[in-house]
Amino acid sequence: MQPNNGELKPLDHWIRVCKEHAFDLQFTRARKWKEEHADGVVVGYMPVYFPREVIHAAGGLPVGIFGGGDRKQIIKGDAYYQSYICHIPRSIIDLVLDNHTDHFDGYIFPSICDVLRNLSGIFKLNKLGKFVKYMDFPQNFLPEVGGVFYQQEMQHVMHYIKELNGKEVTPEALNRSIALYNTNRRLIARIYDIRQDHPWRLTLEELYYVVRAGTVMPVEEHNAILEQVCDHLERGTGKAQDKIKVVLSGAFCEQPAVGLIRAIEEAGCYVVDDDLMLGSRMILGDIDATTAEPLKAIAHAYIHQSQLSSSIYDVDNPKENRLAKIVKDRGADGVIFASASFCDPSLLDAPIFQKAFDRMGIRYIAFQFSENINQFKVIKEQVGAFSDSIKLWEDEPAGAALTN
Ligand code: SF4
Repeated sequence: MQPNNGELKPLDHWIRVCKEHAFDLQFTRARKWKEEHADGVVVGYMPVYFPREVIHAAGGLPVGIFGGGDRKQIIKGDAYYQSYICHIPRSIIDLVLDNHTDHFDGYIFPSICDVLRNLSGIFKLNKLGKFVKYMDFPQNFLPEVGGVFYQQEMQHVMHYIKELNGKEVTPEALNRSIALYNTNRRLIARIYDIRQDHPWRLTLEELYYVVRAGTVMPVEEHNAILEQVCDHLERGTGKAQDKIKVVLSGAFCEQPAVGLIRAIEEAGCYVVDDDLMLGSRMILGDIDATTAEPLKAIAHAYIHQSQLSSSIYDVDNPKENRLAKIVKDRGADGVIFASASFCDPSLLDAPIFQKAFDRMGIRYIAFQFSENINQFKVIKEQVGAFSDSIKLWEDEPAGAALTN
């Protein structure tokens, strides 16, 4: 499964490889990496975003943990959480207590919501991992306040890793790691840009495999795969179908089952932008990889180059305008709001978006999902009706009546 021999392999080969990695709930690639690196530290991070450069430079392997989806039944997690919350924290508990991550050294919980905050407490109480870090992201976007705070949080993570492998992180090492992740972000952005005009060249399902695989393997390997995928997409494959273009928004943390992703496209939509696997695309553009203060550069990028996300409260940069800009830039016909059930950040944002989009004349449809549900007949019919309504009545105003 190693992509590094430089030989151009067929696109469907890489899709298969990425699919295997993306849903490997045993995190086999990380286990092998650890066997190959005597002082290697495997660090699991939860959604949405963590600056993986910091772990990489410290001699670690960052590994995304996105729950068991529809591939693992939640049993133990129900003993820790009430039933009226989203599924991802409960399925993460099942993954960890069933020893899927017994080769992980530490865990990072970015501050996205109270549910994930409590999950970090559950990990601590159960003494899971050699360290557990609840990572507070700045909500103050002044570089001298939030930016400095953010640098301290990253130093805290480096300190934890150093206690395990004794490695001092130099600015040169950080710059090398930043450059690798810059390449990663650039290649993923290139795929999105190609799909904007030619979405049939790679289905959303295939795109999902390709991006998600990068969260569980070394960035060097993922970059080599992305280069080959870009190469294939630039030369063109597939044939256009009569579908509308949409932006998918709201599924930035708990991930829908692949069947739902497939159902949206089968119902007549090309998804030309989305927030699935948002963390891999959180920073727009490059982070400065030439500075003597790389942590400051990472903080600067977070403050000035972050993607739209419900996890970021930037009062001077209203998120409804940012999502509207994505719709316009991608040439999309509408938006599909897909929120994990009981996901407060997503469900609290949805009415803000919808009110603004009614005013702006942007069409939308909204529904909720759970990661472990794979019956999508009703959603498929709703999306199909949404797609038909846009094709048939292109000049009519936004479709608020289609929301549920
Ligand atoms: S799905 Fe939503 S509520 Fe659940 S952990 Fe993620 S952000 Fe929090």
